[in-house]
Amino acid sequence: MPKRSIEDGHLASTEPTLRLILRRLRETMAETSDGQRRLDKIVRLVSSLMVAEVCSIYLRRQDQSLELFATEGLNASAVHNTFMKRGEGLVGRCAELALPVNEPDAQSHPAFSYRPETGEEIYHSFLAVPILRGGEVLGVLTVQNKTPRHYSDDDVEALQTTAMVLAEHLVSGVVPSLASGGASRPLDDLVRGQAIAEGLALGHVVLHAPRVAVTELIATDTPAELERLEAAIAELKSTLDALISQSHLERAGEHRDVLEAYRMFANDRGWQRRLIEAVKSGLTAEAAVEQVQNRTRARMLRLQDPFWRDRLRDLDDLSDRLLRVLVGIAGKDVLRPELPPDTIIVARSMGAADLLDYDREKLKGLVIEESSSHSHVAIVARALGIAAVGGARGIMERIEPGCSVIVDAEAGEVYIRPSPQVVSLYSDKARFRARRQRQYDALRGKPAMTRDGQRIDLHINAGLPVDMAHLDEAGADGIGLYRTELQFMIASSLPRLDRQTATYRAVLDAAGKRPVVFRTLDIGGDKVLPYLRNEPEENPALGWRGVRLALDRPALLQTQLRAMIRAAGTRPLTLMVPMVSEVAEIHAVRALVEGELERARRRRFDVPSPLRLGIMIEVPSLLFALDDLMQAVDFVSIGSNDLMQYLYAADRGNERVGVRFDPLGVPFLRAIRSVVDAGRRHGRPVSLCGEMGGRPLEAVALLAVGLRSLSMAPASIGPVKAMILSLDIARAAAFVEPILASGSGSIREELARFAENEGLEI
Ligand code: PEP
Ligand code: MG
Repeated sequence: MPKRSIEDGHLASTEPTLRLILRRLRETMAETSDGQRRLDKIVRLVSSLMVAEVCSIYLRRQDQSLELFATEGLNASAVHNTFMKRGEGLVGRCAELALPVNEPDAQSHPAFSYRPETGEEIYHSFLAVPILRGGEVLGVLTVQNKTPRHYSDDDVEALQTTAMVLAEHLVSGVVPSLASGGASRPLDDLVRGQAIAEGLALGHVVLHAPRVAVTELIATDTPAELERLEAAIAELKSTLDALISQSHLERAGEHRDVLEAYRMFANDRGWQRRLIEAVKSGLTAEAAVEQVQNRTRARMLRLQDPFWRDRLRDLDDLSDRLLRVLVGIAGKDVLRPELPPDTIIVARSMGAADLLDYDREKLKGLVIEESSSHSHVAIVARALGIAAVGGARGIMERIEPGCSVIVDAEAGEVYIRPSPQVVSLYSDKARFRARRQRQYDALRGKPAMTRDGQRIDLHINAGLPVDMAHLDEAGADGIGLYRTELQFMIASSLPRLDRQTATYRAVLDAAGKRPVVFRTLDIGGDKVLPYLRNEPEENPALGWRGVRLALDRPALLQTQLRAMIRAAGTRPLTLMVPMVSEVAEIHAVRALVEGELERARRRRFDVPSPLRLGIMIEVPSLLFALDDLMQAVDFVSIGSNDLMQYLYAADRGNERVGVRFDPLGVPFLRAIRSVVDAGRRHGRPVSLCGEMGGRPLEAVALLAVGLRSLSMAPASIGPVKAMILSLDIARAAAFVEPILASGSGSIREELARFAENEGLEI
């Protein structure tokens, strides 16, 4: 094998070197020597084969610092005595970025951290690569040379492959490393994140897309490995094809989009080429998949753009599935693993459609390292009614499959291996919640009638086909707000006409005789469609969103209207337009609706009857055009979330200001009352579908100012109905009216006292 010196501009010719390193590593790992001796041997091996004067291994400790574990070339006394704090020096930087660091003159780099005990001052060029396992950085592998130079891409490749092999052995316990976390795991290990879907769950961990342990890394027969790889890719593709055609029958939409994105990646030549090259370098097919996947993950960590992160996440997921095909977990299990009861899914990151893959009956909780309450997976978790915590950084390193956890999605906390005391505390809490839930369930069949005989309509807010089950579960009167944008938000490309039609049809079928209010696309603002890339806006909440976008891009709205009309057939159809600011916008939408009806008639399609068109009152300008407005619409629904944000100029997503102003403030209640009064004057139904309608005390005030119809999250129906059954509206109105006539601040405290005196169920 030609071994060139550093003067040749290359540490060594890479391909043969890489193979040689892999072979020698295999021999070293097969020897019966202790872990430290193996590491010492590895650094000697790499330094000689890569013609590097120094080779060192740093491993990550529990506190995230890095410890020098083995070296060839640096002072031997520095081993186990040199520590780099998190992010410190070039080694720390490599670990933090999960990326190679390649510096011709390391000592002049601003991040260089000089450690006299190592004697490294004579070495100038420096190459470090992360020791990665499943996206987790276990440590750093470095080489150094005296002569200043930039290491070639081939050198980087050789060192990365070595690091991957090393990672496997660290994890499999050949080396008793700190990084493998071998010591006994603590009880009541607590990870804090944010609650993204309310609830409480006790159960056992199932890892989302659990890693397949790749044990054989180095190929003995490369042509055979290439064949295995190609066969596995072919099998993966045909599984995807089969699932795509099935998903057409099974579901009305969102899942299929994700599968199609996977199919696109599976056919990607660049991905296949990288896999083949990795096998040709001497790896087994599994190791090749893992190597390519590790790089994808490292790239993913660096990306800011959520769209590209999502795409890379899809690719990462696809690699997991390919690994499972390679090790023989084929067919349907590649995509839908069997779950034990009381499953808590733990994931590094997860797409909304992945969550829909799991069996809803067995799913109790969800913990994700990367996720916020606005993420799509959070939306789906809420729709499924499971307790979910997001932003749980570092949890993957602290759990193992099957270990017990408590997901407290009120406090946003996760207890890992809870002690018996903590379990009993939470069991009490869970029992209490279950008892209350049983009480609410008992009200399911009862009409929401106040003590003074007023019937209140209670509807649910929905947005995904999975929400439809809540209609019966909650005993709701219908769907007061169907957020059609959710289907668009969790898809990876724009849902086409037939997909939309199928979704709306499924919703109407599931609702039966109960009314459904479809809100036309409310995108823009914080509701971003990754595949519709628009100019960034300085002030998105006040920007191109809702009906503004729909009227500027009428084709989008027309397609949606067409889908709704087709889905309804001759059934009633109720449409609601978001973010209307002036009456002219309703006339413009009505013209588009009329156009679509006309088109349907021309083509001899059925048309819905009646078709009602309403709007959401979210923008305060409408409060000063109520008489005109009521004449232009068939009904209105107050979107109190946005109306509150615009009336008080307080961003609803900004915790500092979002909770600063009280929806039970006199100005806001007066605004609501003015809409109710205008509705009465013109004989137009008025409802409210913002979050406040789902809170019992707020609902007292809303009924007191005249509302008789509320739409809310399904879980709120029980508590609000319990309150209604204990309420005398006339007495509430008599209490609230005088305060509204004179006050200006929040009525919360007075109202709470009233509720207590009246013995209301709050
Ligand atoms: C609202 O603004 O009150 C509303 C219900 O709409 P969304 O929360 O979807 O903006
Ligand atoms: Mg809104």
